[in-house]
Amino acid sequence: MEYRELGKSQIRVSKLCFGTLTISPLQKDFDINKGASILKSAFDLGVTFFDTAELYGTYPHIREAFAGNTDVVISTKSYAYDKKTAQKSLDKARKDMDRDVIDIFMLHEQESELTLRGHSEATEYFLKMKQQGVIRAFGVSTHHIACVDAATEHDEIEVIHPIFNKRGLGIADGGIEQMSNAIRRAHSAGKGIFAMKPLGGGHMCKTPAQAFDFVLDSEFVDSVAVGMQSEAEVADNCAYFGGNRDVDFAANDIERNVIVHDWCTACAKCVQLCGSEALKLINGKIEIDQSKCVFCGYCAAVCKDFAIKVI
Ligand code: SF4
Ligand code: SF4
Repeated sequence: MEYRELGKSQIRVSKLCFGTLTISPLQKDFDINKGASILKSAFDLGVTFFDTAELYGTYPHIREAFAGNTDVVISTKSYAYDKKTAQKSLDKARKDMDRDVIDIFMLHEQESELTLRGHSEATEYFLKMKQQGVIRAFGVSTHHIACVDAATEHDEIEVIHPIFNKRGLGIADGGIEQMSNAIRRAHSAGKGIFAMKPLGGGHMCKTPAQAFDFVLDSEFVDSVAVGMQSEAEVADNCAYFGGNRDVDFAANDIERNVIVHDWCTACAKCVQLCGSEALKLINGKIEIDQSKCVFCGYCAAVCKDFAIKVI
């Protein structure tokens, strides 16, 4: 496994980051022990970097796997927008993962300079906590090129977690070339880059080697967050990231789908939430364009009736 510093943050991470969305209640919904066991199997194979979010509900899995383990780097994120919500989010992360220090705390799903400004009070709080040693680095996660560009201009943002894959799937405001250029500029400015969704949320599961090669060959990407859901998949990905090009990826060949149950009330909250424009409300029914969906599962989080989910 290769290890790299995330930009100027002085945080050293494995090239392969475990994205814990896949084991969360929004996707596979593994119980704490099963989730923790998969996370630990990745650590045993050299993965030291684990990404989560308040939304994912995987803090208990991480706590079970890594309580007291200071060799892992944990990144999390929330939708906090002011001091009160930021304090609540950070307290929850520390308590639920049983960690005094959160390595990386990010603003979740930022879009542009405007949304960064809208979260300035939360940013101020996180930076104060960084000064006090409670956070090691502050960052943003995004599907937007405009946000990568904006974050590049902010000295206080040390880590950027952008969507980045060969086909440009899920990029909200442009194509892969523009995103590559934006990330390259950000990395040159000293930002730590850890890419998300190298397999396009599952669309490139049938050609993982090509999909991984694209991201691994992009020298401006320090680490790559990959969602994994079995120990076999972890082993394949660790081997590939470790330089073994003979991996057959038998465990990666997993179809993903979004389904809507018939008890859906057509409230359209999921439609408004979906940044990929994969959902439409037509004649009182939710229609899904699976080709646009990046299987993030965020629609499931907003549905109070549990009527939509990624399977
Ligand atoms: S949020 Fe849930 S109930 Fe509302 S339209 Fe979407 S699936 Fe249906
Ligand atoms: S439909 Fe749901 S899972 Fe698919 S991209 Fe939209 S929010 Fe994400």
